[in-house]
Amino acid sequence: MDVKDEVDGLLSRSSDVATTKDRRVGLIYDERMCQHYAPDYEDHPECPDRVRVIWDRLNSSGLAKRCIILNAKDADDNHLALVHTKNHIDLIKNISSERSESRRKRTAAKFNSIYFNEGSSEAAYLAAGSVIEVAEKVAEGKLDSGFAIVRPPGHHAEEAEPMGFCLYNNVAIATSFLLNERRELGINKILIVDWDVHHGNGTQKMFYKDPRVLFFSVHRHDFGTFYPAGDDGSYIMTGEGPGAGYNINVPWENSRCGDADYLAVWDHILIPVAQQFNPDMIIISAGFDAAIGDPLGGCRVSPYGYSIMLDKLMEFAGGKIVMALEGGYNLKSLANSAQACVEVLLQDKPVIGTLEAYPFESTWRVIQEVRQQLSAYWPILAVKLSDKVIDRRITQIEFSSSDSDDDEHEHTPSIALDGFKTVDDVIQPFVNLKVSEDGQDQEATTWRSELSKINIWYATYGSNMSISRFLCYIEGGQTEGMRKPCVGSVDKTKPKKIIWKTFPHRLFFARERTSTWGPGGVAFFHPKSNDQEKTYMCLYKITLEQFNDVLLQENASSYNMSHPLFDMTALQSIQTEKCISVEPVQRGWYHNVVYLGKEEDIPILTMTCTASDVDSFVSGKFPINPPCKEYANTLIKGLVEGKQLSEEEASAYIHEASTKPL
Ligand SMILES: [Zn+2]
Repeated sequence: MDVKDEVDGLLSRSSDVATTKDRRVGLIYDERMCQHYAPDYEDHPECPDRVRVIWDRLNSSGLAKRCIILNAKDADDNHLALVHTKNHIDLIKNISSERSESRRKRTAAKFNSIYFNEGSSEAAYLAAGSVIEVAEKVAEGKLDSGFAIVRPPGHHAEEAEPMGFCLYNNVAIATSFLLNERRELGINKILIVDWDVHHGNGTQKMFYKDPRVLFFSVHRHDFGTFYPAGDDGSYIMTGEGPGAGYNINVPWENSRCGDADYLAVWDHILIPVAQQFNPDMIIISAGFDAAIGDPLGGCRVSPYGYSIMLDKLMEFAGGKIVMALEGGYNLKSLANSAQACVEVLLQDKPVIGTLEAYPFESTWRVIQEVRQQLSAYWPILAVKLSDKVIDRRITQIEFSSSDSDDDEHEHTPSIALDGFKTVDDVIQPFVNLKVSEDGQDQEATTWRSELSKINIWYATYGSNMSISRFLCYIEGGQTEGMRKPCVGSVDKTKPKKIIWKTFPHRLFFARERTSTWGPGGVAFFHPKSNDQEKTYMCLYKITLEQFNDVLLQENASSYNMSHPLFDMTALQSIQTEKCISVEPVQRGWYHNVVYLGKEEDIPILTMTCTASDVDSFVSGKFPINPPCKEYANTLIKGLVEGKQLSEEEASAYIHEASTKPL
């Protein structure tokens, strides 16, 4: 089953439950957890505002008042001792009463990515105790589900040491508490889903031999270089002794995984295994540092993505789900993601939307490796994924060079944070994503009607020179040689006029394959003009609204069009700037919009790669490649139909563009 089918299936189910009355969702937040903060690093990513913004958002959105607010509680030492050593408990208990700050600092320095202040002990006890409190209430049936908005986080904390901003392992403590201290509640099997972008090393170790706990973690691993680094997060770590098969790691090989990647893992690993395991409760190590815009994570999960991930889990254990906050360092993403999740827990709205992006090729590779590794324990994973499913992918090479640069940036170990890295300059425009469906519709309607009144010329040098091909972008559908259909534009009105012109720019062919055409290079237009060159272009008079939909489809992104990608302001500024790189679709190959002057006083726009991408083609970092036959034929067809060249001349033109050195 592919992602789209899954989403469709989900729609009907969610719509059914949306009409039932609100579920009893518990929330815990306590300002005292904000008294734990880094003494020196004022802008340490694990800051008190992380929980404040979530709490504020749940209140301002009116969600909090529909939940049951519980009081935070201190954890009992006995319960902490279920997973931590006595020395560890004593250390955390006493750290705040240390005589001096410098002594606390010396102690903190012995550990990996840890700070302490005078509020740390109390916050750590409240965080652990609050997750226990929510979990207990859900287990008792007093709540349907709940969210403990706690910090410090917990999943890196090990039996005998704090680590990675985590002091006590909140989720592991609550899990162990239910399984060992409250057996009469009948919670005998717990699924822990750790979707924090970092591996839950502490939790993994605590239940490594325990078949009552299925620990599932999806995280960036980057071949062992991403925090917490090493082999613990590898997919070969599957559990030991009676716990063999009950530890599942899905290690991303690279940054930028998004909704499509996570949902593919849900559909092809987590959900089938959860069906077999049949948990009595699910506890989520709910870090939101895989969210779009997170400065540490570098991934791209949207609030919508989190809501589907959570909604798919609601099918299990009668919806008994406990969420405990772990990481998440972009305050806006945190608030947006947490809001989306609480809306799902309340089940007050169907989860709707479309997912247009495909997973990375590397994602399918990882999924297949994990399935194979675990198939001995979970027979359902032994079934080979069909080529039809794994063909839905995008290749890693689609990143622009600037993307790769900040990849390296993230890998650079930081001395101060010991592996965690604050990358303030990678906060992305996506953080403004709204999660309210109603608001979205309204905003979308507003920008669409505004931009539908503006005409532009969309100038194309590639397969869109063939009218039947271009109409797929407007009306939807597919044409000869295409492997997958286009969704089309919202406004399906045909172009008002078609003309041809030539421009002094270089046409060339590059990249290895596309999901639309399969193997072979595709056309690019050098963004810089050059009098020695000539590119034939077909100009379609369409609205700026339609141009936005074409721009989106050309760049195959899951961007939610609640806002235009290219608005009136962009149209004005491009006339002086000449090029505008459209940030939200930066992952696409054609995100650079280029202004080519005016015709009938209407601006002419095309889309291509950036000048820095051209440098990468020249240097060999990205491949130069001739087009495949179907693709070349579509171009030739366009040029011939447009009466620009004879078939022979058109073939020679394409041949020259694909062979002449760049
Ligand atoms: Zn994290």
